[in-house]
Amino acid sequence: MSMELLVATNNLHKLEELKPLFPGHELLRPVDVGVQDFDPEENGGSFFENALIKAEALYRLTDRPSLADDSGLCVEALGGRPGIESARYGSKNGRLLSAEEKNRMLLSELGNAHNRSCAFVCCLVLYYGPQRFLCVQETLEGAIGVAPRGRQGFGYDPIVYLPQQDKTIAELSQEEKNLISHRGRAAQKMAAMLGAVPIG
Ligand code: IMP
Repeated sequence: MSMELLVATNNLHKLEELKPLFPGHELLRPVDVGVQDFDPEENGGSFFENALIKAEALYRLTDRPSLADDSGLCVEALGGRPGIESARYGSKNGRLLSAEEKNRMLLSELGNAHNRSCAFVCCLVLYYGPQRFLCVQETLEGAIGVAPRGRQGFGYDPIVYLPQQDKTIAELSQEEKNLISHRGRAAQKMAAMLGAVPIG
């Protein structure tokens, strides 16, 4: 059954990646249903808690099925950082760094560390009724490269190298990224759950 899903994000890159992953469903932004400046405080201690905070907040404002994505990059040699702080990594006095600045900073923080293993994590929560939600969390493992490469994707994509593809994520097309990415894998499972067990 085709559904309208509100997406609890202001990140247009995430929304554009999610749209083709939910074929047959209509994905809308908070502003599309009159919710301006949707920006709940993400004070959870995990990707799951933050996804739940965002999905539940939008559901409570709209009374409509609300999907939230909380995601980030965990670098092994940095003890899993930036992790849930990925969007705010390196920000000073509230000014968020650009993606290029964050990538430069992460490369210099890692220096010539031998262990460059990392994983993108994506938690999706679909909140559809009081105390009722679906959740999936997925990963994409890779290695931090030595320099940024590629122009597709967003965020940390240019510095995450995938040995199997011999490419960074930013060198993959949108379709190629969605087939294997943390977000793609989580969304494929969420869409399959929605198809198998209608909510409401
Ligand atoms: P969130 O909006 O709090 O979930 O922050 C997610 C942050 O993690 C983004 O701002 C990006 O910096 C990073 N991130 C998440 N997913 C991706 C991805 O697919 N590619 C590159 N960076 C990502």
